[in-house]
Amino acid sequence: MPLFGRKRKDEPEFVAEPPAPLADPPQVDENGLRSMADHRDYLLGQVEELPPFGQQLLDAVGLSLCEDIVAAVSLPGFDNSAMDGYAVMAEDVAAASEDRPVILPVVGEIPAGQAARHPLSPGTAMKIMTGAPLPDQADAIVPYESTDRGADDVKIFQPTERGRHVRRTGEDVSAGELVLASGDRLDPRRIGLLAAVGKDKVLVRPRPRVVVLATGSELVDPGLELPSPQHIFDSNSFLLAAAAKAAGAQVFRVGLVGDDPAQVRQVISDQLIRADLLLTSGGVSQGDHDVIKDVMPELGSTDFCQVAMQPGKPQGFGLIGDDRTPMIMVPGNPVSAFVSFEAFVRPVIRKLMGVTPYTRTAFRCRARTAISGTFGRMNFARGLVTLDTDGERQVELAGGHGSHLIGDLSRSNALVIVPRDVEVIPAGHEVDVWLLDDDD
Ligand code: AMP
Ligand code: MG
Repeated sequence: MPLFGRKRKDEPEFVAEPPAPLADPPQVDENGLRSMADHRDYLLGQVEELPPFGQQLLDAVGLSLCEDIVAAVSLPGFDNSAMDGYAVMAEDVAAASEDRPVILPVVGEIPAGQAARHPLSPGTAMKIMTGAPLPDQADAIVPYESTDRGADDVKIFQPTERGRHVRRTGEDVSAGELVLASGDRLDPRRIGLLAAVGKDKVLVRPRPRVVVLATGSELVDPGLELPSPQHIFDSNSFLLAAAAKAAGAQVFRVGLVGDDPAQVRQVISDQLIRADLLLTSGGVSQGDHDVIKDVMPELGSTDFCQVAMQPGKPQGFGLIGDDRTPMIMVPGNPVSAFVSFEAFVRPVIRKLMGVTPYTRTAFRCRARTAISGTFGRMNFARGLVTLDTDGERQVELAGGHGSHLIGDLSRSNALVIVPRDVEVIPAGHEVDVWLLDDDD
């Protein structure tokens, strides 16, 4: 159902300004193909990092910090005990042994969170718990394990030295120290540090809101009955939505639209309001019903091209609507859609989030079997990376080459990259892979 009805005949026609064109596209090779890296950099060059905003710590996990963090406190904030035991002066117990323990009167007890009522006098001990502040004059802790755990008097069976089991003020972090810098990504360890120095909110770049939809009149939502044997379940919108979520995005899965221009135009126009990035699958190839390719130029500035890669050759990009919202249009075969996500969409999501590096790191792996490429196009085969007996990474193919093989894709944990000028990687030779379970 369109949101707005048709205009009355007598209303003057609104003539929209033609949208500003996209940046000049990269060069193509003799076959009219762009390199994967050129196309990726072209897209990265046309999206901007999202502006920063304040977030509570737990909502900032995985996000990129947009401020320098200077510690307001030292860590530890005061000298304190590293063990449950007794605070002593080391010289008082220098002669202690199993046979001839030193016996000291216990003159107090200091739990964590409280200070001793008075300084320690020579020749006495105070019971002290882990994290409790060291009493003045004490210079070492004797752990329970070296004593009889006495309450009024304590027998100490081992000597100690000054500073033993004492955590010193500022030995970890000093007040005034720069602990995190703008651009750092907030992993759980850094979230812990922020809390430790007393921060509850930080300035970060937000999760991009990614709207995902699949096109194709043959598609049916999983959970419904297939109306005919010619229909298939829509896997791409789930695959892409899950991948975008794993990359850190906030995802709105709109689901599917048929190959109907009016419907596509309407749904995409309606979704622009909540999207930092639009992501569609299907309808960008050379078919007769490639609706995305037909409709999107009406809604913004678009670029449809062929990339020298296999799978994922047809690609679309656009800056859509008044806000010039970025849109990436990937082909419909599920493996093509996924490889396109890895090659182009994930880097763009990371740029919007300000998370570097934008691209995956390629790891070298030994090919267990020969791996053939597609001469003239960078080939992304699905691989299974394991460790050999020496702990070195090795890779074998996880199934066949077809870009419809989502079962094989699910069995893989890597994309094996055969460069465009290589016909085959012989068994035993090294090859680059992207490890798909590696989230950095
Ligand atoms: P297209 O890019 O629209 O020409 O689609 C290429 C192939 O991918 C066709 O076999 C489609 O049926 C299939 N396909 C397209 N979209 C999806 C989807 N969302 N889920 C599963 N398969 C799809
Ligand atoms: Mg289609």
